[in-house]
Amino acid sequence: MINWNTIDTVLLDMDGTLLDLNFDNHFWKEFVPLKYAELHNLSLAEAKNQLIPLFKRMEGQLEWYCLDFWSDKLKLDINGLKAELAGLITTLPHVIEFLERLQHTEKQVMLVTNAHPKGLALKMDKTCLHVFFHAMISSHDIGFAKEHPDFWGAFQLRYPFDKTTSVLIDDNLSVLDSAQQFGIKELISVSKPDSKLPVRNITKYPAIEDFRELMQGL
Ligand SMILES: [Mg+2]
Repeated sequence: MINWNTIDTVLLDMDGTLLDLNFDNHFWKEFVPLKYAELHNLSLAEAKNQLIPLFKRMEGQLEWYCLDFWSDKLKLDINGLKAELAGLITTLPHVIEFLERLQHTEKQVMLVTNAHPKGLALKMDKTCLHVFFHAMISSHDIGFAKEHPDFWGAFQLRYPFDKTTSVLIDDNLSVLDSAQQFGIKELISVSKPDSKLPVRNITKYPAIEDFRELMQGL
């Protein structure tokens, strides 16, 4: 799928790429509505009816990924609630093996996530994946979500890399679109970001179901 000899920099998304999106899906679709219902004396169905359209409207914007924004908006301690559910944070199959292989190469490996720095810290605490990266970047520190056309240029100014010898692996197709516009050479999607949901049919970009498909030649 990739000729690894032509790649110097590996850019990896976190949630839904390295980590099971089941945590985030369960958190936002079930756990937050439940806590919101308790706080506002609503049924779970009423809470979901209020929250899901609100989440939908914010999708792809930097605030959507901001724990402080949601804590303020919903009057819930979002970071505290995430810590309560932290038992569900787990890597997707064969991720560690893939990262170990990368570690034995000369390639620059960077984690590039839309997750808020607090969410990133929680997930690194839980998984210890931080040892595998030369840098870990939250889009909150860049000032644009990864979907934004200005993200990649701003990111590259702070963390230099050659886009013609780079690969981005990300489960979010809008992010792959913005990276394509910017000119990142290889773009790979993930067809099973949530271990509890069926495989997605992705045609726009090459897609892996798990990381074994990328290990050939590495
Ligand atoms: Mg993702």
